Amino acid sequence: MSTQTGSEGEPIKLISVEESFLIPEIIDELKRLAGGVPSMKSGPIAGPFMPRLLDIGAGRIAEMDADGVDIQVLAVTAPGVQKFDPQTGLSLAKLANDRLAETISAYPDRYAGLAVAPPQAAREAAKELERAIGDLRLNGLVINSHTNDEYLDDEKYWPLLEAAESLGAPIYLHPREPNAGLEQSLMAMTGFTVGWGYAVETGTHALRMIAAGVFERFPKLQVVLGHLGETLPFLLDRIDNRYPFEIGVTGVKPLPKKPSEYFRSNFTISTSGMNFAAPVRAAIDILGADRIMFAADYPMENQREMVRAYQAIALSDDERRQISELTARRVFGIG
Ligand code: MN
Repeated sequence: MSTQTGSEGEPIKLISVEESFLIPEIIDELKRLAGGVPSMKSGPIAGPFMPRLLDIGAGRIAEMDADGVDIQVLAVTAPGVQKFDPQTGLSLAKLANDRLAETISAYPDRYAGLAVAPPQAAREAAKELERAIGDLRLNGLVINSHTNDEYLDDEKYWPLLEAAESLGAPIYLHPREPNAGLEQSLMAMTGFTVGWGYAVETGTHALRMIAAGVFERFPKLQVVLGHLGETLPFLLDRIDNRYPFEIGVTGVKPLPKKPSEYFRSNFTISTSGMNFAAPVRAAIDILGADRIMFAADYPMENQREMVRAYQAIALSDDERRQISELTARRVFGIG
């Protein structure tokens, strides 16, 4: 199972933090909404990923063993329960969270997991998060970017952010298809939707949270971004550099800190789909290995190839231990 050994001889576990699953009841509801037609907008309601998305048992564990992954952090894949009416979203969230807790207790050394909750019912979602963290002992919350084309900078969603902060539950801000405002420019660019459009959608979401003062209001809230931070780490210096000029010109009250300071204190990133040496090295230089976690993005990416690519990146023992295991244990409270 475990493949790596640090210089002190202690084995390093490989924790993979952005790994998807679905339950049949959510698939049925997504199919109903999409009129049975699978598309980039309807979510993965059909196609080659389906058998693996539905398996959170022995089949997936066998693949993890073969590929060298010790622990997967599971989350309901995009668009989660965010397209449903509030009550349907809430009841499907409870069902998914219960199933997730069951599978984690069946394989406590192999799985951890993130709760799902409908932001479109923010107060009820906050209660469900309390149950999911407090009773079910899940490890955080996944939000699949926009909800009905709105972002978490809107204060009507803040009861959920408040609950996440007070429960110490990190929010994994995962991509979904871009919102209606971005749709024309990004969804129409066939072939580049996931590789570029999802990063623009989700990176914009994260910046909107920073710009709205979310991390002044909830200073302990922790957000996780996949795909090496959806390009943001590589732009932080430029964003900081232009921010005071733009704010000064418009007369808008500036944030008390630089945008990058919120990013550095309130965000952690994963390597999902981005296990390439040059950008991983750059991300370590920019953020430090204690803000980076390995992820494969199973089953959308080939887990074996992702592990192989990650293990081939030249890292110090300390960096390897942080990115493979320690950052994830700290951020998600994995014992
Ligand atoms: Mn993913």
